[in-house]
Amino acid sequence: MPPPSPLPPTPLIASDAHLAHAGLVELYAGREIPCFESPERATVIRDALLATGDYRLEAPEDHGPDAIAAVHELELIDLVEGVWADAIADGHDPARPLLPDTFLLREYAARMWLDQLPVGRHQRLGAYCFDTATPIVAGTAAAARAAVDIGLTALDRVLEGERLAYGLCRPPGHHAGRNLIGGYCFYNNAAIVAESLLSRGAERVAILDVDFHHGNGTQQIFWDRGEVLYVSLHGDPGAIYPYYSGYATERGAGDGEGATLNLPLPPGTDGDGYVGALEEGLAAIAAFEADAPLVLSLGFDTYHADPICNLSLVTDDYARIGASIASLGFSVVALQEGGYAVDALGANAVAFLGGLRDGLAG
Ligand SMILES: [Zn+2]
Repeated sequence: MPPPSPLPPTPLIASDAHLAHAGLVELYAGREIPCFESPERATVIRDALLATGDYRLEAPEDHGPDAIAAVHELELIDLVEGVWADAIADGHDPARPLLPDTFLLREYAARMWLDQLPVGRHQRLGAYCFDTATPIVAGTAAAARAAVDIGLTALDRVLEGERLAYGLCRPPGHHAGRNLIGGYCFYNNAAIVAESLLSRGAERVAILDVDFHHGNGTQQIFWDRGEVLYVSLHGDPGAIYPYYSGYATERGAGDGEGATLNLPLPPGTDGDGYVGALEEGLAAIAAFEADAPLVLSLGFDTYHADPICNLSLVTDDYARIGASIASLGFSVVALQEGGYAVDALGANAVAFLGGLRDGLAG
C-alpha cells in the first residue's frame, strides 16, 4: 500500500520586526531580571517548526491601523506609538527600557482629581500599564504592530481555505485590554482577529485561550458582548498572575452574560487533568455554535519546567491537547502568546501544532 500523501504545509506567519523589541528587563520578586519574554522564544519556535518540513514560512501583510483601533482606545494606541519618543526627548537613557514607576489605581479614580494628566506620554505610562513586567524600548511599537499583522495574515489564510494557520506573534497580546497594557502585551492580537472576523460578517466567534495565564485583556474587551465567547484555562489566579481576574465566578455581563468561561486549574495539574478541564471548555465552544474559525490563544507556559508555571504538563501532552481542539471540527487561527522554558519551546510547539494539524486533516 502506498504511504498516505503528505499534508500540504501549514502557513507559519512570522516577522523579524520583533527582534528590535529586545534588551529588556523586568522587575520580578523585587529584582531586576532579564525579561522572560525574549526574542529567542520566537526564533526557537520558528526554527523547530520549519525543521519538520510541515510548515511554510510567510511574512505578514500590512493590514493598516484600523483593525487595532477597532479594539483599542485611540489614547492607548497613541501611548504605545509615542511613549518612547517622549521619554527620549525628556532625556531618558536610550540603553534602558521604560517601565512605569507610578500607577493610576482605583483609589485615585474614586477619591482624587483626575481632570489633568501629565503631558509626556512616558509620565502617563502608569495610567495604562498595570505591572512592572512590560518594558518598552525603541522597537516595541513596530513589533506590536507586526504581531497584529501576523495575526490578521494568519486569519486571511484560514479564510482562504486553510484548516490551520499559525501566527508567531511577539509581543503576545492576551493581557492587553481596551485601554490597558501589561503582561508583556501591547495590542491584543487574538481580540483584533476576533473583531476582524465580526467585521467580515461572522456573527458568533469563539476564542479559546490555553496560555497558562488568564487573558484578562481579552476577557475585558468582550466582557459585555454576546457575539464573542471567551474560554480560558489557566493557573488559579488566587496564586498566579494576573491575580485580579480569571476566577470561575466571572461569567460576563449584559449581552455577554455567560459568554465568558474561566477554568482555573489547581497547582500540579497534569495532562489528564488538563484535558479533562479542556473537555468542559470545548463543550462550551461546541454549544456556542460559532460561524467562524476558532481563534486560539496559544501559550506553552503550562509546561512543567516553565519558570513562571505551577502545572505539570509534559511535551507529549501538547499533542493530545492539539488533537482534542481539532476534534471540535473548526478551522483554527492559532496565535502565539506565552511560554518561557526556551529549551523546550520548539518541541512543545511541534507537538501541539502537529496534533492540531493532524487532527484537522483527519
Ligand atoms: Zn502566559
